[in-house]
Amino acid sequence: KIFYELQELKGNIRVYCRVRPFLPGQREQKTTIEQIDENGELIIANPSKPGKDGQRLFKFNKVFSPSSTQAEVFSDVQPLIRSVLDGYNVCILAYGPTGSGKTYTMTGPDAANKDNWGVNYRALHDLFTISQSRRSSITYEIGVQMVEIYNEQVRDLLLTVPDASMHPVKSTSDVMELMDKGLKNRAVGATALNERSSRSHSCVTMHVRGLDLKTGAALHGNLHLVDLAGSERIDRSEVTGDRLKEAQHINKSLSALGDVIFALAQKSPHVPYRNSKLTQVLQSSLGGQAKTLMFVQLNPEVISYSETISTLKFAERVS
Ligand code: ADP
Ligand code: MG
Repeated sequence: KIFYELQELKGNIRVYCRVRPFLPGQREQKTTIEQIDENGELIIANPSKPGKDGQRLFKFNKVFSPSSTQAEVFSDVQPLIRSVLDGYNVCILAYGPTGSGKTYTMTGPDAANKDNWGVNYRALHDLFTISQSRRSSITYEIGVQMVEIYNEQVRDLLLTVPDASMHPVKSTSDVMELMDKGLKNRAVGATALNERSSRSHSCVTMHVRGLDLKTGAALHGNLHLVDLAGSERIDRSEVTGDRLKEAQHINKSLSALGDVIFALAQKSPHVPYRNSKLTQVLQSSLGGQAKTLMFVQLNPEVISYSETISTLKFAERVS
């Protein structure tokens, strides 16, 4: 069954767009989103150019409207998660400006409410359920790692003992406990967690090892789940010092990521993985047989128009 699911997936890179809804209490509800088509077309309207002249069309493998649920989004991610258990490497990333719903898509607003679980928890839950039930002759071992990349430095968020950054886990709740610990570690030294989280990349990695007891065959797949730093461009004239340094590191790593995915999409013989810590960390799950999915997150508001266009231009280049 899994084999046929994989056959249906086209190519190794796919890009989904998700538009977040207006937030409760937002009075001004003017949007730049002219039209969303479930087959993957999105039309953006320029607020200062009414009519057809101000409209631009962008194409994705899929576009999720503000009313799409977490479960609907995950049903289009699920085949990728299952391929990890067949030994594929998979990378799922959320790209977009701060406030556009990256964390909502990847983690969800509230771990306690399963209906609102994002891709991370649903993916973990699937990995455990399938690894424990479907294939009786294969036994799986699953380990988890969690790192933050901030100013081109990789910090292990689960590093409690030296040289023990890979944590064996047996259930979704094991991982959720670890992730919770990781998130708390992330907060250490940061004045406001939200502020810091929008300026660093966070990456949860699940390592899956399977051994077929009948044939002796071994397989190894990994899954990277990445909540990227906010893609908004910082006005250089407005920031200095640490803020400017942060902004430069973010720009550098996001454009390095764009360059890598662009090279892969073009089937270029040279893929520039070495240009940033982010692309080095993700290398095993970008390119080769690996499968990559990028969520491009958008704010719906009219005031976000130019940010939306630059986000979509990034997406256009990599898809
Ligand atoms: P980011 O991580 O990109 O900075 P967040 O995920 O924190 O953005 O989302 C910003 C706000 O919008 C949060 O309050 C979040 O709960 C809300 N939000 C984002 N996406 C959705 C959605 N699809 N449905 C409902 N609320 C959402
Ligand atoms: Mg976030």
